[in-house]
Amino acid sequence: MPDMDQMIEKLRGMPTGLVKFMEKWLRKLPAVRKEIDTQTEEIINDLESSVKPYEGKFSTYSSLPSEGRPQEDILSEIEEITLLEQSRWQGGYVSGAVYHGDREHIDFLNQVYALQSQSNPLHMDLFPSASKFESEIVSMTASMLGAGTKDECCGTVNSGGTESILLAMKTYRDLAYKEKNIRKPEIIIPESAHAAFDKAGEYFKIRVIRTPVDSDYKANVQAIRKAVSSRTIAIAASAVSFPNGVIDSIYDIAVIAEKQGIGFHVDACLGGFILPWAEKLGYDVPPFDFRVQGVTSISADTHKYGYAAKGSSVVLYRTKSLRRYQYFTATDWPGGLYLSPTLSGSRPGALSAACWAAMISMGEKGYLKAADKILKTGKYIRRGIDALNDLHVLGDPLWVISFASSSMDIYRILDFMSKRQWNLNGLHKPASIHICVTLRHTRPGVAEKFISDLTQAVDHVKNTPSEKGGMAPIYGMAATLPLRSVVNDLLERYLDLYYKVSQNDRKS
Ligand SMILES: *Cc1c(COP(=O)(O)O)cnc(C)c1O
Repeated sequence: MPDMDQMIEKLRGMPTGLVKFMEKWLRKLPAVRKEIDTQTEEIINDLESSVKPYEGKFSTYSSLPSEGRPQEDILSEIEEITLLEQSRWQGGYVSGAVYHGDREHIDFLNQVYALQSQSNPLHMDLFPSASKFESEIVSMTASMLGAGTKDECCGTVNSGGTESILLAMKTYRDLAYKEKNIRKPEIIIPESAHAAFDKAGEYFKIRVIRTPVDSDYKANVQAIRKAVSSRTIAIAASAVSFPNGVIDSIYDIAVIAEKQGIGFHVDACLGGFILPWAEKLGYDVPPFDFRVQGVTSISADTHKYGYAAKGSSVVLYRTKSLRRYQYFTATDWPGGLYLSPTLSGSRPGALSAACWAAMISMGEKGYLKAADKILKTGKYIRRGIDALNDLHVLGDPLWVISFASSSMDIYRILDFMSKRQWNLNGLHKPASIHICVTLRHTRPGVAEKFISDLTQAVDHVKNTPSEKGGMAPIYGMAATLPLRSVVNDLLERYLDLYYKVSQNDRKS
């Protein structure tokens, strides 16, 4: 897409406001519209084969098969697909995604899931075990995150980090509405905070104010202080942040929140199940949890470093009165009295059972040992990257290591690494990549292979400065702020593609 490249290049130098204004009417011009559509279409067509690799290889259904297929057939097909997909994450080539992945651990969780697959916490009377599992998950997580035995700390089990964050933001919104009469709520979050906060803003009509980060990629505390207004319902910060793996200055931000009497959410989705153990292992981890006065809620993902199956996370609140703003109850519904603590109605009790089982099978010692391995591997990878002349690590991370280059296009490094089977995360603002170290990377030889492939990537990009293609141009385009609506459109089309069933379906 050379034309698009040129256009972006030209737009890059202009003031953002002007470009946004221009973009508005430029896009209305039929010729421009058509050009953008064609280019976008082309990108999507290029991506189709990677989104739909099974086209023509497995039976496709755009409507129900008239007769049910034999279960053995279905099982063997799914087994085949699973085998095709597991080699990369199993071998440790993937950033994040699968955080434990040992066969015995997976088999154990699957056994628990199978036993509990009918459980639905919505029917508390039928499945009282759900209450046991979930209350204990919450309590174990809270006590790991600085809740004293006398504290009122409490929480709920949710489907993932995003739901935990959505719920916390809804909670602050409803509290502010009722207790402070705030009708146009605002939250303040650093640039580095997870996109789930923007999603909360969109879903719940909360204005999201993004404040800058410092050169160490931690939230700029002064900017947060300045952004506070009479409409602020909460501040959020990360421990650790998704892009750069750094811990924001939780204490300093908590002081602001406490003084203003507003909520302070610490997003420990990624760090919640590593940092407590890192601290015990002697790493430099300033207090980030309920030990800090002013922290009023925390999210921690059991389905990341809690090593539970995907689909579970915990949101914690300092007080029960705060948690109540999360709950939903209905008394007038013809379907009866209805009560629901989280976004979903019916919920997979089996996932909570498996989460509980993961936690008590790991125990403190298990989590400590896992964290030790991950942190050592993180240190090795960080040193290896820093040793390469053309790359530099961003901030001062422990095990989520982001890096950039001032001499070459970092997305071309990403492309090269993809050809070597690596699945890393492309970041922008600034253009960079990260690897989120999991237990998969702690196996012998994996970290060494990462550094040796990365070394070759740098050499390759240096020696082929004019090579084109790959994902690099798309990341380059996404990083260019002025064309945001074009990129948004591209992403929406990508989702359309995700839900597209291939045409040559075999109806049988
Ligand atoms: C993963 C993550 C989230 C969102 O969690 P999901 O489980 O993907 O919904 C939020 N914040 C941080 C820092 C994360 O790493």
